[in-house]
Amino acid sequence: MEKHEFKRASHVVLTSHTNQIYKDIPKVDWGNKDPKKRGPVIATISDKSNRNAIGTHSGSYTVYRALSIAAGHFPQDHKADLENTEATTSIGPYDSWFDPERIVSIDPWGAQINEHFSDLIKEGMDIRPSIAVTQARLHIPEIEKSIEKGKLKIDGKVVLEDSSIKTTKVAIEPVWYLPGMAKRFGMEEGELRKILFQETGGMFPELVTRPDLKILLPPIGSSTAYIFGDPSKLADPKTELTCRVHDECNGSDVFGSDICTCRPYLTYGIEDAARTAQKGGVGLIVYFRKEGRALGEVTKFLVYNARKRQQGGDSAATYFHRTECVAGVEDARFQELMPDVLHYLGVKKIHNLHSMSNMKYDAIVGSGIEVVNRLSIPDELIPADAQVEMEAKKAAGYFTAGEVKSGDKLEKVKGRDID
Ligand SMILES: [Zn+2]
Repeated sequence: MEKHEFKRASHVVLTSHTNQIYKDIPKVDWGNKDPKKRGPVIATISDKSNRNAIGTHSGSYTVYRALSIAAGHFPQDHKADLENTEATTSIGPYDSWFDPERIVSIDPWGAQINEHFSDLIKEGMDIRPSIAVTQARLHIPEIEKSIEKGKLKIDGKVVLEDSSIKTTKVAIEPVWYLPGMAKRFGMEEGELRKILFQETGGMFPELVTRPDLKILLPPIGSSTAYIFGDPSKLADPKTELTCRVHDECNGSDVFGSDICTCRPYLTYGIEDAARTAQKGGVGLIVYFRKEGRALGEVTKFLVYNARKRQQGGDSAATYFHRTECVAGVEDARFQELMPDVLHYLGVKKIHNLHSMSNMKYDAIVGSGIEVVNRLSIPDELIPADAQVEMEAKKAAGYFTAGEVKSGDKLEKVKGRDID
């Protein structure tokens, strides 16, 4: 492997140093209709003089990049060669892109860097995409079973002969427009900046020292949209849209852990999204890296133990209480930002929403998207040990077309012992 010498600095230059404040940085006019006037978000570290954002690309992986540079595996001044990286299908622009308050947590122009900013790139500016669009085929055991059972048909267009599903997938990095974020949370921008700075252990000093920089690329996970059928139909309210907005659950989604319903609900959503695409509609699954209700997996596993070891065993009646005892809140997901992805894709109407969460439903409808039907997970797909979660959620007001248990009946819903 080629070794790149790590350039050791004789002293640390803080981002708040006066010689780090450049007067001629390209401006960003969030929401401007003309991408050239809106301006590119420049968050690369290779050329500090043009940076107009706080933080850098790749979300949480930016820390690995730093390690890679420290280990000498990665050239510090690398500029991306973006030839042939353009999106396989173009998305937008939609009216929602021009409303500075409609999309505040992603850069809608993030996939079209080559198209709109090639002149600036030629001038030497290191501008990187924050969104990438490509094609894929999904092989999923649950989908193969549904095909065997005749629930999903092979049509050679959406579902192929080998039982795989064709999809367009869109990777989206977080790009936060801080004035819009503050508005969404109903607070002063300065207050939001101060809290973000303090509660991350003082991670980005510019949050408090550089009020002129309005954009933050936070070191958090990204989201991915999987589109089934024609992506341009997502913006047509007359085309039937089946959608699931799914928050990551690594234990269930990847490893098949049976304490929750995440993977069965996800694969059922994919199956139904594909079915809708086969009827001439379009399907959409958005996957958010918000593990353990955005509390993280360590907290989540602690809660599992606390639930299973409590007096009387794991019970639907005490499900939310145990989470709150350990984590301080029942849920830290703040679904207020989630609809931004839907607005990026131009969605105005969802005909079938696969979600039981009222937080998600309220956020989607509150952002101006119409929802026609809400669909809960079919009973036969709920693992036995996940009945506790399911009944607790229904009792707490989550959407269901079925029965809601309370009192004695809820007390009786118990999970497995810890071993
Ligand atoms: Zn789960």
